[in-house]
Parts: sequence; structure tokens; C-alpha cells
Amino acid sequence: MKIYNTATRQKEEIKPIKEGEIGIYSCGPTVYWNQHIGHMYAYTQWGTLVNFLRYIGYKVKWVMNLTDVGHLVSDGDEGEDKMEKGAKREGVSPWEIAKKYEKQFLESLDLFNIQKPDILCKATEHIEEQIDLAKKIEKNGLTYKTKTGLVFDTNKFPEYAKFANLKLEEMDSGARVKIDEGKKNAWDFLLWVTNQPNHIMKWNSPWGEGFPGWHLECTAMSTKYLGERFDIHTGGIEHIGVHHTNEIAQGFGAFGHQTANYWIHNAWLVLKGGEKMSKSLGNGYTAQQLVEMGYDPLAHKYLVLTSNYRKGLEFSFESLDASQTALNKLRGLINEWPNDGQINKNYRKEFIELMSNDLSTPEALALVWKLVKDEKIRNEDKKATILDFDKVLGLKLDKKIIEEKIPEEIVKLVEKRQEARKNKNWAESDRLREIIKNEGYLVEDLENSCKIKRTK
Ligand SMILES: [Zn+2]
Repeated sequence: MKIYNTATRQKEEIKPIKEGEIGIYSCGPTVYWNQHIGHMYAYTQWGTLVNFLRYIGYKVKWVMNLTDVGHLVSDGDEGEDKMEKGAKREGVSPWEIAKKYEKQFLESLDLFNIQKPDILCKATEHIEEQIDLAKKIEKNGLTYKTKTGLVFDTNKFPEYAKFANLKLEEMDSGARVKIDEGKKNAWDFLLWVTNQPNHIMKWNSPWGEGFPGWHLECTAMSTKYLGERFDIHTGGIEHIGVHHTNEIAQGFGAFGHQTANYWIHNAWLVLKGGEKMSKSLGNGYTAQQLVEMGYDPLAHKYLVLTSNYRKGLEFSFESLDASQTALNKLRGLINEWPNDGQINKNYRKEFIELMSNDLSTPEALALVWKLVKDEKIRNEDKKATILDFDKVLGLKLDKKIIEEKIPEEIVKLVEKRQEARKNKNWAESDRLREIIKNEGYLVEDLENSCKIKRTK
């Protein structure tokens, strides 16, 4: 499989460190508020990547973090801790905030049929590992201390600007230095934060009571679960300039080398005109809200997969409606087609080729429709092949379509008819079917149940 590596700015063949196995670390959510579909875009794409790597035979270990301390309102060292901000907003403790929004995140994974990562690790449960990592970096001589804590000395890592092509000389030294004039460079960053009397979440450390800087958790936990060198690290494009740049610096500081071989980044799901989805603007729709609006969350997943992860997606309800229609149509066909078909080898090969090219989900979906329309292939083979692809796409394509709401009196008539059929009273069953038909509904008998369709 080829994937676009931000570190080298090119598509590269994935060569696993250990043959047949792949370790992936994904920067996860900061659990201080609801995760909306803008946030979930990334996890939908990475979940699909994990599915695909497994589909082509790799043994994959997928690790994701949950940030529940230390992520300030900026991705750098400025502003309030997001967790404490959330706690103030809702008048509860940061611990309760973490619990509440972790639950919302897990539910969202479930609604979008994204498999839970093999390891979901929390920053607050890995304080010791983070302190150990900072101690290593300190021992290797890449830190200095200021009144706000232990700082990473980027002067000691000459390649600091390379990953993100940063123009350090153009970076504003004002803002970040204002917070701590002890910093040698504006872009030096805190590994451990001290002297924050109002901060609620605090732990003892060799540098004083405080809490870890946000970037530290990802290096500490990725290397704990995947080793000092692992295969793939994912994140959003917003992580390139600060968070991942700092993670790379930490890896160098602690181990003397890079941690991940492939750094891959997703673009964003935005609103029309490129406007960012935002909770505070009230346009940050969640998976749960889509359900309340009557959408199948997997229609949204279908929409996400019509975009390539590197291009992002312009979300609109019109396109969500179109995806819902496409998904229903596909499920309808699959439910009508007979079972026990064979997977078509040519289509499977093409599917693998498309997905192996930087996770081209839009082309893979187009291939599904090409197969649907291919008259040379038997319907049962189409079904077997598409359901095989669905192991990767995760759209539950064999799911029965939920019929529109049927009026109660019709449901009662159908139930009466089912009863008659059970008693083998065929005359009564036919009489009721006729009444139902005159009301504008068609009953289709299935093995142990039946389907009701509106005809008028
Ligand atoms: Zn991270």
C-alpha cells in the first residue's frame, strides 16, 4: 500500500518494521466537549485505513489517546487548559467532564461503525510514563528550566523546523514569550508545566507539582504501546506545525531518532465556503444529532468516504440526503439479491488497487456502483463481492432498510394477517392482504416476517 507521508512530502510504499504487522498511533480527541462530525471525519478515515490494512492481511495494532489534561486552548503553551475550561462551563470537575465526553466519543464511534482502537489510552493514566520521558530528554541535555516549568530546548535539535517547513525567523516571538520571558525561543515548548496555582489537575514531579505539556502524552504513549520505532502516526493537518513537530523533537530528545516512519494527515470536514464547523457557533453537528434528525449515521459515513482523506469534505445536508439515498438504494439491492454467490476476483483486485493508492475511498465507492451496473456478473456474486468490500467500508450494507412509518391501523391489519398465516388460514390472510392493498400498502412475505411498502 502507498500512502502520502508528510515527512517526505510524497506517496510511499508502506514497509512495516516487522513483517506482516503494522502499528498505528492516532492522535485522539480532547474530551472536553462533544465531538462533532468535523472531528469524527478523521477517525472515520483512520478506521477505514485500519480495516483495509487488516483486509489485505496485516496484523494491525491501533492505538489512540484520549487527552484529558494539558491541552491548552492553543496547541502551544498559551491559554487555559481545555479540560478546566469545560469544567467551568458546566460547573463540574474536569474529571467528570472527561468521563462525560469520553462516553459521547465512544458512542459516536459506534454510530459511525468505527471499530474501537485496540488501545485507547488516557493522558491522566500515563503521568508516570510522561515524567519518565521528560526525564530522558532532560538527561540527554535537551531541556532547560524556567518559572513555568521544564522546557524543550529546540536549539539542541537542529532539524526542528524541517518536518513542517517552518520559517522560524518569521514566527511571532511576542505571544509565547510574553507568557514566559525565560524561554530562549518563542517555539521552545513546555514538557512539564509548574507554578499554576489555579490548575485543578496536578501531580508531583522532579520539576515541581504540575501537569504535562500536551505534546508529551503522545510520544510517551505511542512508544509505550508500539515501541520506540513504529510504523504510522496519524493526525489532522492542524497538527503538523506544532503538535507533531514537537512530538518529533521529543522522540529525538529521548531516543535520538524519529519514532514513526509514516506521518499521515487528514484535511478537514468543513461547511459550505470552507467555514470551519464549530461547537461555539452552533453548527457542530454530532452523530447523535444526525440520528435525531432522522439520518442513518452510516449515510454520513458514506458521504465521508466519497472524499479522500487528504482533500477533506465540504459538508451540506443536500449531500447528506444524496448519500442517504445512495446507501438505501445499495442496501435495497443487496437485500433483494440472492445469497451464496462468489467474490468476483477481478473486482476484488481492482478494489485493493484503488484503496492501496493512498486510501482512495471515492474511487472504491465508484467501483461498487460499477459492479452494481455490470450486467455480466450474477446478482449473487455482486452481493458477495460488495459485502466483502464492506469489511473495509463499514457501511453495514446488508442492513435492512428501515421503512417509513406505517400507520397504526395498517400495522394492526398486518399483525392480524400474520396471525392468520400462522394458523394456515389462507383465505383470511388473502382477505386481509386485499384490505391492506386498498389502503395503499403492499405486504411482502419473508421467511419469518414480512415487509410493508407504501404503494400510493
Ligand atoms: Zn497527539
